Amino acid sequence: MMYDVIVIGGGPAGLMAAISARSAGARVALIEKGHKLGRKLGISGGGRCNVTNAKPLPELMENIPGNAKFLHSALSQFSNVDIMEFFEGLGIRLKEEDRGRVFPVSNDAATVVKAVVDHVYALGVEVMLDTPVARLMAKDGQIRGARLAAGRTVEGKTLIVATGGCSVPKTGSTGDAYPWVQALGHTIVPPYPTEVPLTSDEPFIATRKLQGLSLRGIDISIWNEKGKRLTTEYGDILFTHLGISGPAALRCSHYVSTARRRDPACLLRATIDTMPDVRPNEWLESLISARKDHPRRSIGNHLQTTHPERLVAYMLHQAQVAADTQLTHLSREHMNALQTAVKALAFRITGTLPLEQATVTGGGISVKEINPKTMESKLCRGLYFAGEVMDVHAHTGGYNITVAFSTGRLAGRSAALSAVAESSPDTVRQ
Ligand SMILES: Cc1cc2nc3c(=O)[nH]c(=O)nc-3n(C[C@H](O)[C@H](O)[C@H](O)COP(=O)(O)OP(=O)(O)OC[C@H]3O[C@@H](n4cnc5c(N)ncnc54)[C@H](O)[C@@H]3O)c2cc1C
Repeated sequence: MMYDVIVIGGGPAGLMAAISARSAGARVALIEKGHKLGRKLGISGGGRCNVTNAKPLPELMENIPGNAKFLHSALSQFSNVDIMEFFEGLGIRLKEEDRGRVFPVSNDAATVVKAVVDHVYALGVEVMLDTPVARLMAKDGQIRGARLAAGRTVEGKTLIVATGGCSVPKTGSTGDAYPWVQALGHTIVPPYPTEVPLTSDEPFIATRKLQGLSLRGIDISIWNEKGKRLTTEYGDILFTHLGISGPAALRCSHYVSTARRRDPACLLRATIDTMPDVRPNEWLESLISARKDHPRRSIGNHLQTTHPERLVAYMLHQAQVAADTQLTHLSREHMNALQTAVKALAFRITGTLPLEQATVTGGGISVKEINPKTMESKLCRGLYFAGEVMDVHAHTGGYNITVAFSTGRLAGRSAALSAVAESSPDTVRQ
């Protein structure tokens, strides 16, 4: 049987591609190597499924550090608002939480996955589970179909690759498609970890002095060895036995990974502004006035009025000030060093955890070779891409899933319109 559209990969990108292609009147096969669909979607957002983010488009784009411009057309055609309407149409009630994150009211990713998967079957998409694809088939610059690992061939007028990246490989995303599309002339930007904890070789990390301590509402900046600031991210961090984790640290990981890809030996530094709402001179003035009001108070006790005890110990160590120093005995040098510890607490960053442990894969199929208006390959007719398999990535918070749904919808629709128009123009549904 010749399909109009073959979709490879049953993640959010592939599911949405299959739905939109079928809704446009195409005969669609969805091929998934695992025994169920939407495995990564089912563990996203802490198992609650962060289906999208409600922020307006310009802010949405700011949260996509990996090739946001390329995604503009897809996001304009099928936006976060369309995604919310889509789910509400499937009977999934949604709610908005902090930072625009949108979740199902059920707080259960399984309800979202079930609704999408049921819709795929109800539309009449032919789903093939436990069916790994081994390679693509193309002739004379035109896609012809896919060769399955079992040896059989599935033929199609168009084909959408939606196999994801290669992080958390137990979900099925293992980078299978990169060699397939390289064989057709596509460039692969080498995959790298993003939205992943940062590592540090500082003794206070190795000795686990701060392990388990979380800091809320801080600014964290990453600096290169020339003293250039690569990014500043606001939010929460968590000290671990290897470095730092938490939303603000994950947001920095793109910049750390990118700097280390350019120069694997580069020396990076993080600084934490533990009180971003207080200007440095304001903090100093408050210390000077505390010195007048409570001259005998120790600096250790004073800092503990605003900071956690374990962090205070590290800050005093950094500033080289003894914890029992009375405020009245603080020298100007001490105060400057303490101000630096409060406003720019510094430590080395050696890199990130590996790709397998990353939430998202950076790199993938170069977007320079993909038409942003259709998601079609510029090198092979009838071949389309959707989701994380491309060199696109976003911060966590629903942005990646938005990218997957949005590009899936565009690829599915473009492929269907092309295939169905080719055979019988009258059947194309607008
Ligand atoms: C723990 C975790 C939490 C996350 N939380 C968030 C979050 O809160 N917000 C957010 O925006 N993003 C989050 N993400 C990222 C988000 O889940 C992914 O960006 C998204 O799932 C990518 O969708 P995709 O369809 O492109 O790929 P995937 O979801 O990876 O799906 C790819 C599919 O292709 C199949 N496949 C691969 N190779 C083959 C083959 N050879 N033959 C057949 N099928 C194949 C795989 O089995 C898989 O089912 C999270 C990721 C993880 C791991």
